[in-house]
Formats: sequence, C-alpha cells, structure tokens
Amino acid sequence: MDVDTRLAEDWVRAIAAAVEREHERLTELDSAIGDGDHGSNLRRGFAAVLAALDSPDPAPDSPDSPDSPAGPAPDGGPGALLTRTGSTLISKVGGASGPLYGKAFRAIGAALPPPGRPGADAAGLGEALAAGLRAVRDLGRAAPGDKTVVDAWTPALDAYREAVAAGAGLPEATAAAAGGAERGALDTVPLQARKGRASYLGPRSVGHQDPGAASTALLFRALAEATAARAAARGGS
Ligand code: ADP
Ligand code: MG
Repeated sequence: MDVDTRLAEDWVRAIAAAVEREHERLTELDSAIGDGDHGSNLRRGFAAVLAALDSPDPAPDSPDSPDSPAGPAPDGGPGALLTRTGSTLISKVGGASGPLYGKAFRAIGAALPPPGRPGADAAGLGEALAAGLRAVRDLGRAAPGDKTVVDAWTPALDAYREAVAAGAGLPEATAAAAGGAERGALDTVPLQARKGRASYLGPRSVGHQDPGAASTALLFRALAEATAARAAARGGS
C-alpha cells in the first residue's frame, strides 16, 4: 500500500475526532503548566481544517463566485491536502502549537510525491514525518528533553524507522510510531520545561505531562488508526 489522498484525509479526520474527544484532557494538562488553551486551540484549528476539506480549493486567479461549484476539493494528492491542513492551522490557531503543527503539516505535505507519481511507501512516509519534525525544530528551536512536541515526535520517528528497517509496511510502522509517541509523551512528566510557556515555571513544570507532547501522541495514534483502516479496506498491507 502507499500513502494516497484518502489516507491523508482519513488521518486528518481521525486527528480531528481525537481532538474532539480529548480536548478537555489537553486543556487540563495545559492548565497545570501553561495557560489552559491547548485543547481549545487544536479544537478550533481542526474544526477549520474539516471545514476546508469540505469546501472547494479556492482557484488562485478566480475569486469565489456564487456559481463556483460546491463540493470536495479536487484531488491534488495527499501532499496538497496535508499542505493545506498546515496552512489552515497556521491561520486559525494563535498559540505556539498552531504555527508548529502548521509548519509540520506543510513540510510533510511538501515531502510527499506530487500527483501522477507513485505514492509514498513506508520509507517515503518516514522521510515526510522526518521533514515534519525538522520543521518543528527549525521553528521552535527545542531539543529533545526540553519537554515539548519534540519529545513525542522524536521517539515516534525512531520507532517508525526501526520498524521500517526491520521490514515493516505502513500499518506496522505507523503503529510502532504511535507507541513511540505515547511513551515519549509520558516520559515528559519528570522533565523540566525549557521552551514555551511552561518554561516560565522552571522546576514547577516537573511532574506534569507536556500538553503538546500529549497531542503529538494523538496525532500519531490517529495516523496508525487511519492506516490500519485503509489497509483493511484495500485488502492487506
Ligand atoms: P501556547 O503555549 O502559546 O498557549 P498551546 O497551549 O497551544 O500554545 O501549545 C503549548 C505546547 O506547544 C507545549 O505543550 C509544547 O509542547 C509546545 N511548544 C511550545 N513551545 C515550543 C517550542 N519552542 N518547540 C516545540 N514545541 C513547543
Ligand atoms: Mg497554551
């Protein structure tokens, strides 16, 4: 199997559903060491992403007119869909997480093959997920251990790559990544925050899970679920 537009869309919809289910927990985590808006930030962002998925892509040189056709965006491939997701997050989410996740999705989208070329296989998606992490690190300047998104994304990518090196296809590799992200998020509990709002608390940030690492775990679990469902629908991996 490869990464097709349907899988990209299912991933984004699965994230939106997970955020809808878990926004209160994310906000509670952010209330402990931040300003209590992480759940609502992502909820607003992914609601806008879903709205954009259900509306046609604005044509670059013809402003929306009353008779422009309604309906889903034309198929520009999984890369275009994820790039658009990132742009929507950047424009709709004010907190630190909007630009960070927004740039990450734009980088993932840009790293996937364009329409007309074979879709990304497991190794190709690994490269795209690595580009996403690079984008987060370029913008936020956080290193592993700083108690941020990076602390879930890094072990997710390590586990993904290890699985691919051992011969895993997309379903197994994304499941490994989800496990890595979940472990990484839990491992932020004893860390002291060195980036973002939580760093203002100094040692008082110790003993709490980082909200952004927790939402990154949701993002990777959603990818694993969407990939498993897609593999089942396509009759195997
Ligand atoms: P804000 O902190 O502006 O209120 P959110 O609450 O939406 O934004 O997001 C907070 C999360 O953003 C943190 O838990 C952390 O994981 C992540 N974060 C903040 N700063 C950085 C950074 N420089 N690099 C990576 N992630 C960061
Ligand atoms: Mg916040």
